Amino acid sequence: MNKAIFLDRDGVVNYDVRYCHEPEKIELKPGFAEGLKALHEAGFLAIVVTNQGGIALGMYEADAVRACHARIQELLGLSGEKIDGFYFCPHHQKVNGDCSCRKPRPGLLFKAARDFDIDVTNSFMVGDRISDLEAGRNAGCRQGFLVDSFYWETHAPKALKAGFDTARTVLEVVKKINSY
Ligand SMILES: [Mg+2]
Ligand SMILES: [Zn+2]
Repeated sequence: MNKAIFLDRDGVVNYDVRYCHEPEKIELKPGFAEGLKALHEAGFLAIVVTNQGGIALGMYEADAVRACHARIQELLGLSGEKIDGFYFCPHHQKVNGDCSCRKPRPGLLFKAARDFDIDVTNSFMVGDRISDLEAGRNAGCRQGFLVDSFYWETHAPKALKAGFDTARTVLEVVKKINSY
């Protein structure tokens, strides 16, 4: 079976510009491509799992999300890297009620695990909010890491208190995992 590092998108892969749906607004976080390279070298798949409630709210179409993901691949390609899979939840509580895939629920991770034959117990979750890490925990991942973003100051102490780990960047996450 394979192992993966599940990555939240906004705030981890690219800067979070609230409901980003324009490919031209995608800007990779500094050092992300380097972190991704280390992740792959450590034998993990890189799977992006992202809540896209803006679709349910009628702010944009699923195709806009796919265009953003194509843009991410294009930018990573400049470093010879790529994301192995993208999964998004198009639902929103206000429109759809509870779905099984909106993080902190684990549906997106389970779907990726089926598609890629991933052993979640040997996999990790990286996010910039506690709800991301909870999705990893709810899926049965080994550990969740909070990385630096807009939410760092408020969420990092809470993450540690809840038994998660923290790291400033994805590269630092991979270094920590390698020494687990
Ligand atoms: Mg985020
Ligand atoms: Zn959903």
